[in-house]
Amino acid sequence: MSARALVVDDIAANVRLLEAKLLVEYYEVLTANDGATVLEIVAESMPDIVLLDVMMPGMEGFEVCQRIKENPATVYIPAVMVTALSEVSGRVKGLEAGADAFLTKPVNDLALFARIRSLVRLKRAIDEWRAREFTFTQFGLNNTIAPEDTDPSMLQVLLVADEYGPSQRIVDTLSEEGYSVEHSTSIDDATIKALDGDVHLILVDDRVGGNDVLRFCSQLRSSGVTRHSPILIMLDDGDTERLAKVLDLGVNDYLKRPVNKNELTARAKTQIRRKQFEDNLSQQYEKSLTVAVTDSLTGLYNRRYLETLFEELSSDLRGGGKPISLLIMDVDHFKAVNDDHGHAAGDEVLRGLAQRVLSGIRGFDTAIRLGGEEFVMLMPNVDGRSAVIAANRLREMIDVTPFEIDDKGQTLKVTMSIGVATGAADEIGLNDLLERADQALYTVKNGGPNRVEVADDLPVDSDPLPEAARA
Ligand SMILES: [Mg+2]
Repeated sequence: MSARALVVDDIAANVRLLEAKLLVEYYEVLTANDGATVLEIVAESMPDIVLLDVMMPGMEGFEVCQRIKENPATVYIPAVMVTALSEVSGRVKGLEAGADAFLTKPVNDLALFARIRSLVRLKRAIDEWRAREFTFTQFGLNNTIAPEDTDPSMLQVLLVADEYGPSQRIVDTLSEEGYSVEHSTSIDDATIKALDGDVHLILVDDRVGGNDVLRFCSQLRSSGVTRHSPILIMLDDGDTERLAKVLDLGVNDYLKRPVNKNELTARAKTQIRRKQFEDNLSQQYEKSLTVAVTDSLTGLYNRRYLETLFEELSSDLRGGGKPISLLIMDVDHFKAVNDDHGHAAGDEVLRGLAQRVLSGIRGFDTAIRLGGEEFVMLMPNVDGRSAVIAANRLREMIDVTPFEIDDKGQTLKVTMSIGVATGAADEIGLNDLLERADQALYTVKNGGPNRVEVADDLPVDSDPLPEAARA
């Protein structure tokens, strides 16, 4: 995996050392010797990861890190503190500044690359979400993606560790922070609990269940339920090989034993935040998709969706000469509704009509607002005769009950004309169907409103189509 790394150290020899290691693995390397330069480079070049020295004259590494994390444009860039101080106080200070990981000088290659791989992987995932987010803001969506702080008692932490003293202290610490904690003492039990869903953080002691721990972690990553759940693992200090292995399996972060209380809460918080941030992006994305394919006035699907849907349906129906039918429905004299009663009344009619149409269709059919007062119904696996019956039923539903056009109960009688077209799903394209239905509609309009007409080449009465299996 190639990525752009920014290496920062006030001592040139340290920069060169790390740079050389990264270049061997084909990373693109940027360098800086002081904090101010880092902030400039980060804003300009958006690296995939920053490796930050802590002790620097002027701005300390922690402050640089904090500045990167305070800026909404750069908060997603992973920051790794490269430190000569391995004492816990420095680590907690770093976590509070938003650091994603720590490496101790001299940097161990295995730990370095495992860390970079796992952090860059995460950043790529977020980049992807953000790119979609950006694309869909064009549809005028509310683009607030900052996750709100959740009441910690709503957050469940699953601790997977043996029944021994330190485990109880971990449970106590997390409970004091307000989290709901469940403690599993076996991999089997933990697997059931984790896959049950609703777990916000999984904290695993790597001594539980021997080597099954690795299998457990990889199983969590391959299940749809826990694929994105944060996993924190507790390891012996200095077991770099095992650390590299678990990070490659997709474990998000680790804690060294004996576990420091402040470090535990800081890392738990960081992981839960990250997950919530991702969830938020993914919800926004779903919402944007819905908005992109629906019509805001009526809530029906729009033309863009019709095109995608037609492609899908016609490939599903391919073979066996299965029919597909399409209705174009047009409100009669709609201009007069707007002219005589105002656009608000016109909108009410369109909304009411959409509701009525929706209530009168099969689950397989799809109603679409084509634009203005024109609607489409796409009916897969429906032959011409059935389509005409359905069209007449819809026409009557509109005709028989007037629409309310204001909250004072004033009503308005509206009628609808419908053009019907049918074809073999194998052969006909959406534009052909639309065109033929449109011609049929034109015939209705010429002969008088509130009727159903069928496209010319559709033999409805004299030469009935073979009864196609209706889904
Ligand atoms: Mg230094």
